[in-house]
Parts: sequence; structure tokens; C-alpha cells
Amino acid sequence: MGDEQKGKVDRLGIMGGTFDPIHFGHLVAAEMARSMFNLSKVLFIPSGTPPHKDRSDITDAGFRFEMIERAIQDNPAFGISALELERKGLSYTVDTLRALRGIYPEHELYFITGSDVLREIFSWREVEEILKMTEFIGAARPGFDASDFLLQIQDKHPETQGKLHYLEVPALAISSTDIRSRVKRGYPIRYLLPEPVRLFIQQHGLYREDNVL
Ligand code: ATP
Ligand code: MG
Repeated sequence: MGDEQKGKVDRLGIMGGTFDPIHFGHLVAAEMARSMFNLSKVLFIPSGTPPHKDRSDITDAGFRFEMIERAIQDNPAFGISALELERKGLSYTVDTLRALRGIYPEHELYFITGSDVLREIFSWREVEEILKMTEFIGAARPGFDASDFLLQIQDKHPETQGKLHYLEVPALAISSTDIRSRVKRGYPIRYLLPEPVRLFIQQHGLYREDNVL
């Protein structure tokens, strides 16, 4: 993709999340977004203390970071950023985007989410600012149809016109919650996430009964 992008503005994809753990749902959404929107790179940004999570038992950030590294090692267009982990306290998307604008001043930013998260962005802090800084790509996720919602939102909030994009992807009914619960119950997780990540979970005994509330 690099050469075709020459002379054009580079587009940076951003995928935020808890990634506890990263799985094929995240990776498929990121890869399809990369290809459909000609993104030169997709950055995975694991959250430190996410404002919208009600779980208090989020896995140590270092483990979540290492699992992402293992998951993306074979894709040269994928990268990882510790931006939100280095920041103390809560991480708001608006702050992350401001920081990324500083680091990538020449890039157009594309924030990739699943359709579940896209439906919530109007509850985010400084959403108007966010919409000035980035486009949104909402990837299909089973159980969360966002296409109707997007039309409604664009009617109600004209400033979002052309900034929210719905992306059909081969929808995967995989979630980190389900993976954690499977490990806890002793059910298989193979083929739901990259094998190096599965081995890491096994080696470190993550999500087992004694580790999960
Ligand atoms: P949890 O169950 O802990 O919430 P999750 O599987 O939803 O985990 P997150 O880390 O919360 O994963 O999600 C990060 C981003 O990836 C969000 O934008 C989410 O919508 C998106 N995403 C997660 N799973 C999928 C999937 N299967 N298909 C498409 N997008 C997904
Ligand atoms: Mg989630």
C-alpha cells in the first residue's frame, strides 16, 4: 500500500480498546478497515483505566500489551502504542487523539471501532472535538447493527455527515468477555485468537478461576 499512497495524505487507523485479550474480531476489523480505507498503518492502543468499563479486574496492562505484540507481529501494517498506558489516570479518547495529532501531524486519522462502540460515541467527552479530529469506521459486530443508527445520527447531528463510515466485515461473534469466561470454565479458546496469544494466556495462567472475579 505504501507506494500507492505517495503524494497523498497518509491515513492512520487507530484501534482503541481494552484488548483483554486481543482476538480475531479486533484483527479482522482492523485489517478490513486498513484495506477498504487505504490506511497506511493501524495502531492498536490498549487502554489503561478505561472510563467506560465497569470491570475492576482488568488484566495488567503489561500482559495486555504483550498479547497485542504477539498478535500483530506478522502484519507489517499493524503497530502498537503505549500512549494510554503511560498516561496516569483515566484515558479519554479526545486526549489520545490530541496526542496522536501531535505525533502524526500530516496524517488523516481514522478511528476504528466495532458497531457496539460506535453507537456510544455521543456519550463520550468532547465528542464535537473528536469529530473534528478523526473519521470513524464502525465495523459490523454480531448483535449490534449500526447502519440504521448511523443514518439517524447523521440526521440529528449534521456535523457527523461524511465522518462516520459503516464497514461490512465478515462478522465474528467473538468477544474478550466470552474468551475470559471460556478460560475460566475450562472451555477451548483455540481458533478464536492468534495461537501465540493463546499460548501466552496459558503460560501466564491468565483468566483462570483464581484470577477472574
Ligand atoms: P470486552 O468483551 O471485554 O468488552 P471486546 O471483545 O468488546 O472485549 P474491546 O477491547 O472492548 O473488545 O474492543 C475494542 C474495540 O474492538 C471496540 O471498538 C470493539 O467494538 C471492537 N471489537 C471487539 N470485538 C469485535 C468483533 N468481534 N468484531 C468487530 N469489532 C470488535
Ligand atoms: Mg468491548
